[in-house]
Amino acid sequence: MRSIVYGPVSSWRLGRSLGIDLLSTTTKTCSFDCVYCQLGAGQPADERRELVSIHEVAASLEEVRHVPADYATFSGMGEPTLARKLGEAIEIARSLLHLPVAVLTNSSLLSREDVRQELARADVVVAKVDAPTEELFQQINRPCPSFHLADILNGISEFRRGFSGKLALQMMFVEANKEYAAEMARIARDLLPDEVQINTPLRPCPVEPLSKEELDRIKREFSGLKRVVTVYEATTPEVVPLHREETLRRRPRL
Ligand code: SF4
Repeated sequence: MRSIVYGPVSSWRLGRSLGIDLLSTTTKTCSFDCVYCQLGAGQPADERRELVSIHEVAASLEEVRHVPADYATFSGMGEPTLARKLGEAIEIARSLLHLPVAVLTNSSLLSREDVRQELARADVVVAKVDAPTEELFQQINRPCPSFHLADILNGISEFRRGFSGKLALQMMFVEANKEYAAEMARIARDLLPDEVQINTPLRPCPVEPLSKEELDRIKREFSGLKRVVTVYEATTPEVVPLHREETLRRRPRL
């Protein structure tokens, strides 16, 4: 059986988090190829597919139903909304694990009604926005050609209107967008998230992280928003390899 479940890992956003990977591909399967991605090269993908059957998901979750964790988190080797039946998998995870369910998404498919409906079954959705302009979006996130920033922002806005759970925006700041904090804060104010997570790539990747002082300066632009946290303020910085150590090592930080 493929390793669909990994962790739990200690997540700076979600506490002790049991990861669920509905892609389970050996290389990245994603609609983006972000400059800071820690997963390396992979398969560009813009269509939803069933890479792991619901039966496999249920069987893998059965094995870990007594593992203590704070969240069951859909993430893994790429973009989780590319997996068809994500909504069904969310329901199975909640009923088997008795945990709140989170999904970390790059937001690319939120312009689709079916994806919004399935994501709305989660308790927490962490949606990525890294750029205030199409040009920077192309430069930082390097999406498949069918994706454009305006559609994604409209999709998040639409999702916000119908979602009663917690919506967090994750904004990754690197050299290329660090002078656009005010514009990013304007986007956050429009999208009405419950939380803004200001991040910078601290794990080994092709891009240098920004300093704590730079993130503190960026955070000040977000004043007035409900809750704003930076990765440097997190109290749980490292992965805790308690389960399936070998697969955990290649999985992304949650
Ligand atoms: S969205 Fe995530 S998995 Fe996809 S390329 Fe960007 S960082 Fe990597």
